[in-house]
Formats: sequence, C-alpha cells, structure tokens
Amino acid sequence: MTDIIIVGAGTAGMSAAIYGLRAGKSVLVFEAAAYGGQIINTPDIENYPGIAHVSGFDFATGLYNQMMDLGAELKFERVTSVEDAGDKKIVRTASNEYEAKAVILATGAKNRPLGLEREQEMIGSGVSYCATCDGMFFRRKDVVVNGGGNTALEDAAFLANYCNKVYLVHRRDAFRGDAAAVKELESKENVEFVLNATVTKILGEKKVEGVEVTDKLTGETRVIEAQGLFVAIGQMPENQAFADLVDLDAGGYIAAGEDCLTRTSGIYTAGDCRTKTVRQLTTAAADGAVAALAAAAGIK
Ligand code: NAP
Repeated sequence: MTDIIIVGAGTAGMSAAIYGLRAGKSVLVFEAAAYGGQIINTPDIENYPGIAHVSGFDFATGLYNQMMDLGAELKFERVTSVEDAGDKKIVRTASNEYEAKAVILATGAKNRPLGLEREQEMIGSGVSYCATCDGMFFRRKDVVVNGGGNTALEDAAFLANYCNKVYLVHRRDAFRGDAAAVKELESKENVEFVLNATVTKILGEKKVEGVEVTDKLTGETRVIEAQGLFVAIGQMPENQAFADLVDLDAGGYIAAGEDCLTRTSGIYTAGDCRTKTVRQLTTAAADGAVAALAAAAGIK
C-alpha cells in the first residue's frame, strides 16, 4: 500500500509530492493529462517570491524533476473515484485500483467557457482558451481577449507581441488582475481596452470572423472584426467524482481547514480545487506542503 496518493500533478500536487517524500513517505501521483497543470500556459511568471522570471513550463519541469529525483511514482491515469475504507483509501481509475493510507486531492481547475452559442464547435477555428498554445496561429491578425484577471492580462500582453491588434474585453471598468500588468498593457499601442462590455456573439460561419460586444451600461452592441477569440474568464473545479467524500461549496470547490484536511479523515486537498480567496502559484505550493505534512503526520 502506498503511503500517500496525490490526485493531480499541478503545482499543488507536485509540491505535496516533494514534501511527502521528504517526510519519508512513499508517494504515487496520478495525472489525467500532462504534468504541470495550468501554469505551463504562463509564458513568464514574475510573482513567485525569490524567482524574478521563469516560464511556466520551466517552473513545472523543475517541480517534476525534483519530485521524480526524490522517488515519486507518476501514473497518467484519470482518477474516477476515491473510497474511504477507514485506515485504507481505495483510489480507482478507469483501468486499475490502488490503495493508500492518505489521499491528497489536488485536481486544480479547468477553463470556464463563456457559454456562447457555437463556442465549443469554434474551438480550433478561432476560439481558444490558451494564448501561449495558440497565439502563433494569429500572427499579424486581430484578436479579442475576454477577461479581466491575470490570465487575460498576460494573454493580451503575449498576443500583442505577435498580433496586429488586441482588443481586451472586460465586463467591468476595473481589472481584477495586477495593476503592473494593466500598466504594461496601457503602454502598448496595439492594445485597446473595451470595458464594461461582454462578448455576446461569435461571428463567422466556419471560423471566427469577429465578435459582437454589448456595452453593459448602455446596452449598445458593437462588432469587432477579429480572427481569434481568447477566452480567459477564470476556471471551474472538477470535483464531482469526490462529492460523497468531501464537502463541496456552491462553486464545486472542496472545503477544508487550514491543515487542508477535508471532512473525511485521511483525505486532504490542496491548490486551486479547494475553497480559498487567493489562487496563486505561491498558495498552491503552500497548500501542497501543508497537506503533505499533515498527511504524513497522520500516517501510523
Ligand atoms: P480570475 O482571476 O478569476 O479572473 C477571471 C476574470 O474573468 C475576472 O476579471 C472576471 O470578471 C471575468 N469573468 C468571470 N466570469 C465571466 C463571464 N461569465 N463573462 C465575462 N467575464 C467573466 O481568473 P484568471 O485570470 O484565470 O486567474 C485565476 C487565478 O490565477 C487568479 O488568482 C490569478 O491571479 C492567478 N494567475 C496568476 C498568474 C501569475 O501569477 N502570473 C497568471 C495567471 C493567473 P470580474 O473581475 O468582474 O469578476
């Protein structure tokens, strides 16, 4: 039986693995896609204390190498359920069943869609949720970024390097993201802020040719001609598989105390998948440490 199974190999999960291994416990990590989580899509991290600049990919690779060098086992299987059998936790994937003394749920969050008609079918035809992945396809073209958080601000800055024009549409007149990032965008000649506005329609038959934007204050609509729509309006958790084991808040995030313990003994949670006010790399890494040390301390 493994000491600690970690569900998710993002910043929180891999930080938990490092702390669990350094506490002398065996650690098995499950990841449904690629290791690294959301941060691999960030071109330049500037707010991790002690590191002035690092790409998300390099940061994630560093975490991965560190946990593997310490002896982590990583399996690319999607965890479909976790059962609490007292001192033993049974973790099921589509093809296998595993046992652990403690489990840390670090499932992160996925991109929230706008919910517009044809949004899903236009993915790959102009609609994207990842500027660093798809930005190069829009070289010298006009694009719209929707959102007001750090992701939208970073996406707009990244795209402004390649695109002819970047329209940043946000539903309020103040951005949620860092003031420094807003200031940087203000200095770029090819970036236009479209504030108090929401994207209400995707235009174009087979590929994106523009968007309709509605002014929230006046109700007036405006057509912006653009070949790309980058949606950056936050994330949603994916915790339904664990709903009978942990308490989920109204948004679907896992409730836990300061020690990252959920309502079930031996089941912990860490990172963006849990209820919290600040979702940052630093808080994800901190959660990983707290959850792993609490899990290790609880193992007899
Ligand atoms: P976020 O901070 O939750 O921001 C989401 C933005 O989308 C908000 O401005 C929100 O508007 C807007 N929004 C939400 N639902 C919407 C809808 N249905 N229609 C239109 N707009 C909508 O999400 P995020 O930018 O992805 O960032 C997530 C977390 O990661 C944050 O804590 C962020 O600071 C962090 N992050 C950090 C870095 C970094 O440290 N380098 C980089 C990227 C992200 P309102 O403001 O009006 O609510």
